[in-house]
Amino acid sequence: MPIAVKRALAEAQCSVHDIDGIAFTRGPGMPGCLTVAATTAKALAAALGKPLVGVHHMHAHALTPFLSQPEDDLPAYPFLTLLLTGGHTLLLLATSPNSYEILAESIDSTIGFAYDRASRALAMPPHPKGPGASLEAFCAQPADDSELQDLMQPLGVPLHNRMAFSYAGIVAQIILRIKELGDSLNDQTKLALARAFQNAAARHLEEKLLMAIMSCRKRNLDIKHMVMSGGVASNMFLRNRLRSCLEAASLASQSPIKLICPPPALCTDNAAMIAWASMTRFLTQDYDDLTVSLRPTWTLTNLTQPETEDKA
Ligand code: ATP
Ligand code: FE
Repeated sequence: MPIAVKRALAEAQCSVHDIDGIAFTRGPGMPGCLTVAATTAKALAAALGKPLVGVHHMHAHALTPFLSQPEDDLPAYPFLTLLLTGGHTLLLLATSPNSYEILAESIDSTIGFAYDRASRALAMPPHPKGPGASLEAFCAQPADDSELQDLMQPLGVPLHNRMAFSYAGIVAQIILRIKELGDSLNDQTKLALARAFQNAAARHLEEKLLMAIMSCRKRNLDIKHMVMSGGVASNMFLRNRLRSCLEAASLASQSPIKLICPPPALCTDNAAMIAWASMTRFLTQDYDDLTVSLRPTWTLTNLTQPETEDKA
């Protein structure tokens, strides 16, 4: 942490005395990881006499478009938010900066885990941005789907007509097909499987998105934007599929819904989004005490509720 803090200050060309406050991720997440950041943040705040604010990690992912978008192109409440990360697959209705309704969440593996697992099972080449990005890059190579048609049988997508995500079965199908192929697994069969995986991952998202749009219409909610953020949201294949899905839904109803995605570097974990999510609290002097606890199971629906309301 001392090395990371020094490098961040050097790259920003400022001294620790120029900093007005210290923000950190208070939850959700694994207690061991959260402790590293919380301890550093508290030590810095205490040593420098600066105020401290603990942030909800998924709230920071959700607010990132307000940091990256031009002011005349911000999402207007209420809007849909799709958070696709290593630890979450969440479709939300955002009704104000601090209020979120969960429309669908994962009942087992997340989409980020599925990308990582499928990528490793297919022995994708290493990629600086990790296994998910590696699978995307492999699929994007120029090869016509028609040549792969026989190998590209669609994977089954679970939970039809239910507002929930499940990626465990999609991963299990890929692993089974790899086993069945045995020695026939080569670059071409891998490409077919990788593309079948990406298609299934996208189809699962599209189905829930269309259900969410229908349910919002039934509630007479005027939705004009959908925000997509989190590491997996840097995937251009998924962005294009969801953009087309929103366009098709818009055409059918004459009421367009625009897709808004932060740039890839701000989609995946970054400290700028944590600082940004803390801004309102710093500006209203709503600081945390140095004894503030971690909240490993904090949900977005409990953003402003006390920690006694967190899941057990
Ligand atoms: P959480 O935010 O739920 O705590 P996290 O912080 O680990 O989880 P992120 O940093 O938002 O998650 O995202 C990391 C995930 O994004 C990893 O699973 C990674 O493989 C995946 N990912 C990154 N780039 C891509 C890409 N281009 N295509 C698919 N997946 C990607
Ligand atoms: Fe994250």
